[in-house]
Amino acid sequence: MVSADLQKYLQEYFSLPFDVRKELHEGNECYFSSPSNEGNMLFEVKAYIQNEIRIVLEIKPQIHARAMLESISRADDGKKTNFINFLNSLKSKRVSVHLQVNGRPINDEEIRECTWNNFYCRLTRVPITDSNEPFDLFDVISEWTKQAVCLFLCLLPVSDQEEKIGELEGSQYLVVCNKYERSPINRELCLAKKGYTCGICGFDFERTYGSIGRRFIHVHHIIPVSMIGPNYQINPEKDLIPVCPNCHAMLHRKNPPYLPEELKDIIGES
Ligand SMILES: [Zn+2]
Ligand SMILES: [Zn+2]
Repeated sequence: MVSADLQKYLQEYFSLPFDVRKELHEGNECYFSSPSNEGNMLFEVKAYIQNEIRIVLEIKPQIHARAMLESISRADDGKKTNFINFLNSLKSKRVSVHLQVNGRPINDEEIRECTWNNFYCRLTRVPITDSNEPFDLFDVISEWTKQAVCLFLCLLPVSDQEEKIGELEGSQYLVVCNKYERSPINRELCLAKKGYTCGICGFDFERTYGSIGRRFIHVHHIIPVSMIGPNYQINPEKDLIPVCPNCHAMLHRKNPPYLPEELKDIIGES
């Protein structure tokens, strides 16, 4: 696998610069991915397959990451709640989580309270995938690296994404979607909890389209941002919902959009 592919994937997904390199450690091909934000190096995710049965991710701060650690320590309750919820959703997906802060294991309460001077996190997933088919290395490494990056980015004040209207042209309903629907971090937090089936009609792209449909879904913002204040902090579990493009289009047939329950009723009646 070429590390340039992983770099391109992560940069496009998060709209952030990434440094990605590959090294051989104890016979394992290890992929090191580090996001940076406005010139600050943040943390590093090391991802590798061990003994062909487990994927391991180790996350630790970059060397000059004092500013990042201060930001984590100052993160508000919403950010820390997102982090804890994300950790719990990983645990429910057979990921074992080992998180140390300041050199020792830490519980949820301490995650909220303590000053982070350092951290180390190891995520291990056995088996590598749920299917018996041979796995695709890029698919596995890129997906789990993305999750690990998201886990720690959700603690940080990452600068707002550029609005990417261009790529959405031609889909009338998407024009009214706001940046929150396109925030990759909120998207991952929502999907970690709710999965990739349509929250309205139950459509599952992978079941119908096979591997090309894996992890394909839109994410919709239930209450449009125009109706909430600019300082409102999104709750990715409550405010966002995975929807198929058909249901997404139908939600936006009026403005403000239909509520998910309303559309479910409409489907039930027709
Ligand atoms: Zn649907
Ligand atoms: Zn939407």
